[in-house]
Amino acid sequence: MSKKKSPFTHLNDLPRGVDILHNPILNKGTAFTLKERQVLGLKGLLPPHVLTQDEQKVKVLSAFRGKQSDLEKYIYLLALQDRNEYLFYRLIIDEIEEMMPIIYTPTVGKACQEFAHIYRRPRGIYISSNDQGSIKQILSNWIYKDLDVIVVTDGERILGLGDLGADGMGIPIGKLSLYTACGGIDPARTLPITIDVGTNNKELLAEPLYIGLRQNRLRGEKYDALIDEFMEAVTEQFPDVLIQFEDFANQNAKRLLEKYRNDYCMFNDDIQGTGSVTLAGLLSAMRLLKTQLKDQKILFYGAGSAAFGIAEMIVQKMMQSGLSIEKARKQIYFIDSKGLVVKSRNNLNELKLLYAHSFEENSDFLSAVKVAQPSILIGVSGQGGAFTEPLIREMGRVNSHPIIFALSNPTSKSECTAEQAYNWTGGRAIFASGSPFDPVQIENKKFYPGQGNNAYIFPGVGLGVVVSKSSLITDEMFIVAADTLANMVTEKDLKKGRMYPSLTKICDISYKIAIKVANIAFDKNIARIPTPENLEKTVRDTMFSPEYPVYI
Ligand code: NAD
Repeated sequence: MSKKKSPFTHLNDLPRGVDILHNPILNKGTAFTLKERQVLGLKGLLPPHVLTQDEQKVKVLSAFRGKQSDLEKYIYLLALQDRNEYLFYRLIIDEIEEMMPIIYTPTVGKACQEFAHIYRRPRGIYISSNDQGSIKQILSNWIYKDLDVIVVTDGERILGLGDLGADGMGIPIGKLSLYTACGGIDPARTLPITIDVGTNNKELLAEPLYIGLRQNRLRGEKYDALIDEFMEAVTEQFPDVLIQFEDFANQNAKRLLEKYRNDYCMFNDDIQGTGSVTLAGLLSAMRLLKTQLKDQKILFYGAGSAAFGIAEMIVQKMMQSGLSIEKARKQIYFIDSKGLVVKSRNNLNELKLLYAHSFEENSDFLSAVKVAQPSILIGVSGQGGAFTEPLIREMGRVNSHPIIFALSNPTSKSECTAEQAYNWTGGRAIFASGSPFDPVQIENKKFYPGQGNNAYIFPGVGLGVVVSKSSLITDEMFIVAADTLANMVTEKDLKKGRMYPSLTKICDISYKIAIKVANIAFDKNIARIPTPENLEKTVRDTMFSPEYPVYI
């Protein structure tokens, strides 16, 4: 058998007959060779003609393109993933620009909203608040015993769509597909998990087909005890695994990150991944404008997990350029649902206090922009359309090239569209978004808006952590990842208005980020293996390839 790191290392371990056809990690469908069919008991179970993977791909791509809606395309891909993972990844990797908006934002948002209706086959593990005391035993039910990456959610803040409870499972599934497609993590070594502690979404609680617990969310000590047990159980069951926290609500995301980050190999993608990918986009913009991040004033619309994740990365980067932490924070402003974050406001949380300014209280967004005069506006509020025409025009009035990142997902929640940002600034805006937008033509110039997609960062960081068996995941790794990504943006990209490289380069980006991240783990003595002689080769050899293994 040629497949590396497979849980099935010997021919004798392989299931036979229909069992291999029904195992998506092993199944090759009509591509099983005649010899394999003979030895694996498949004769007669498949039509006689053997197809190559390329031929199979032509067939599935054409079926995919024949689907009428994006949700149907999503369902088709999920079904393909459930029957033949190699073919699924061949399709995703080869056609990444077409597939990304289907397996991830915006379509995955719709898929989560429809999850109960499109649910066909189980994928991943559900742990509920009724499972306190038996989480380790539940984890032991998983088919594979060695894992590299777990993505876990409690479903409370799914994209910008809010509390979707157990229906949020589409997110860990989608993120892990990206770990494999973009970062080469072996799919047999990944596990999506949803911790179902109930939901406060009244519509779901009233929905007869809802798949989760019908109770309000568990809070307080009982919630914390459940997550503590989960963390301990996971690391006992899968000792070297990386745990990515995904789409936890603001009140838990940062708190849990601080609680676990020094003891577990974990990170929060909404905070650190978002911080890193946004920092990379801003660094590209600095290159284009031939200026420096330390000289910018940045206004965040939204002051939750993503906003603070980005702000903290920007502050660390500004400090690398010689600014003190206080000076760096002074250049950053926040607006939350109550208006500008200023010192005179009552009940500001610890994080907001660090960034509170001495302006008067001001709940009006446009006035806040006039007062703060930012050069960079970042939308992470989940409030679609919040960047209005007067506001963007004001950004254009005070800046020759206003930087406008409308990062809320999915597309309906984006603070403005690419077209609006370019039109209302006469094509002067430097724009990026969380969900993808098509190119925009203004007079005789075409703009190609970039997508600040976390998939540029987390697969590479994850791969570096997996290769080095790093015991911790540090902010330094995310800053290095941002630098690496920004350096891969070409002058040609910048001229087209694209602050991120083409998605077609994503595997190479992840490879380069992984090497840098692994080097940090080795330098800081947090790696759990000795430095390999040839790190580049080790990273390459670890990366999953969608080509079929030859079993015999
Ligand atoms: P969050 O719930 O932690 O934060 C949302 C923030 O928006 C809160 O501070 C809230 O007070 C503020 N807000 C809500 N209504 C507002 C209003 N009317 N005016 C001003 N502020 C308001 O959520 P989050 O994790 O920070 O994510 C926010 C958005 O960012 C989501 O839509 C998410 O999809 C998106 N996001 C994008 C990326 C990316 O593009 N790479 C990554 C992460 C998150």
